[in-house]
Amino acid sequence: MRRVQKAPLHRVPELGSATGNARKPIVSRKGSTLMSTERYEFFQVIQGYLKTAARVINMDPTVEQILAQPRNEIIVHFPVRMDSGEIKVFKGYRIQHSNLLGPFKGGIRYHESVTLDDVKALAAMMTWKCALMRLPFGGGKGGIKFNPREHTQSELQRITRRFTHALGGNIGPEYDIPAPDVGTNAQMMAWIMDTYMNTVGHVNKQANRGVVTGKPVHSGGTVGREKATGQGVVHCITEWARARRFNLEGCTYVVQGFGNVGSNAATILSKYGASLVAVGDHTGYLYNPEGFNEHKLTEWVREHKGVAGYPSGKTITREEFFQVKSDIFIPAALENQVGVAEAKALDTKVIVEGANGPCTPDGEKVLLDRGITVIPDVLANSGGVTVSYYEWVQNKRSESWEIDEVDHRLETAMKRSYHEVVDFAQSKNVDLRTAAYGIALQRIEAVYRERDIFP
Ligand code: NAD
Repeated sequence: MRRVQKAPLHRVPELGSATGNARKPIVSRKGSTLMSTERYEFFQVIQGYLKTAARVINMDPTVEQILAQPRNEIIVHFPVRMDSGEIKVFKGYRIQHSNLLGPFKGGIRYHESVTLDDVKALAAMMTWKCALMRLPFGGGKGGIKFNPREHTQSELQRITRRFTHALGGNIGPEYDIPAPDVGTNAQMMAWIMDTYMNTVGHVNKQANRGVVTGKPVHSGGTVGREKATGQGVVHCITEWARARRFNLEGCTYVVQGFGNVGSNAATILSKYGASLVAVGDHTGYLYNPEGFNEHKLTEWVREHKGVAGYPSGKTITREEFFQVKSDIFIPAALENQVGVAEAKALDTKVIVEGANGPCTPDGEKVLLDRGITVIPDVLANSGGVTVSYYEWVQNKRSESWEIDEVDHRLETAMKRSYHEVVDFAQSKNVDLRTAAYGIALQRIEAVYRERDIFP
């Protein structure tokens, strides 16, 4: 039986304007653009976290210096023919942060706000995430600055294939392995794989399936990858709840971003009897104190490409969205969404970062001062890369695992890392983000100590 608590809308008087998203305007349902005066440099933010954690673990300054910058920054420009016959030139990035622990690994983002600095930040986070999860991967990230929603499937296919061709030998199953991120999906991974397999020569063709993860299952993907990041978010929530004897049944939660991560986290969380009382994405924000039906909402978003117009609940502004009372808040859209104003407005117990970098450092400080727990991105959304690793292993072994095996391995890995982070935080008296970084950096530093640098 599903008990639903009513979630009142709380008005916060000092909340004049939302401050999230400094460089990326958010358009509310009324079309008003919410801009911030807070400057936000994502890569500098990640460098700041690195610095803080390095002090805590007393890291060798040379290693810190190496990790503060990516190894390779690749920028490509490539022409693509549009359906109209017009030729457009696109700018694509691939940042390879570290391959100390294994091949570079990380998603490809298609979004109009992609910048070199963002991709550098996201690539570095992949290095920490893989180290934290004990995966034999390093960190990388890629992207193209454009709005995929403005293009047809055939244009998206040509853009993806030309980008793959432009990257050429800079990716590969033993070198650098992309995956889906914002604006990309399993279909696009199949196009990348096919382009790569057809351009690197015939002899090793089949061995190159592992050049990307997050592929459709028929094309060499793994069962369980599509939901993996959302599933990992929920494993963090269940462990958080267990430690506090907090009953998830009948509790309320809010999700920002209802794409791969947000919709899967919501669908899985609904099985615990939790109620989704507010949701939002790039098309607008909705509130329903009775709780949304996560499955129907997912269907709606698949068909209409956004939550706007969903025939249940009330349309609210972005400011109102951040004031909705809930037990759990899951940001699963973009970075820089929870600044100081949002952090002051949020009325919740725990923030589980499905997205990468959703809380700004100042926003997080406000949250922690208010006693709100923040389960950081490098832990909370690491389920995706973990199951990507399982896909890569299956490709290497020409195997296909059952869903139970994938789910079981992911659950074990997520819970182990969750408790490692909590224990580290308690032993060093630091927040969970610093703890997650600290564990990852200790593992990376140990390898530098053993191997030293070449020559
Ligand atoms: P997606 O493209 O499937 O969904 C993105 C969601 O964000 C959509 O609902 C979109 O409407 C929303 N969004 C975009 N711009 C917005 C804006 N300005 N305001 C509000 N909402 C906005 O992407 P995804 O794969 O679900 O990724 C979401 C986040 O999770 C990103 O930060 C990504 O890096 C991170 N992440 C994804 C994975 C994965 O496996 N896909 C793994 C780890 C981390």
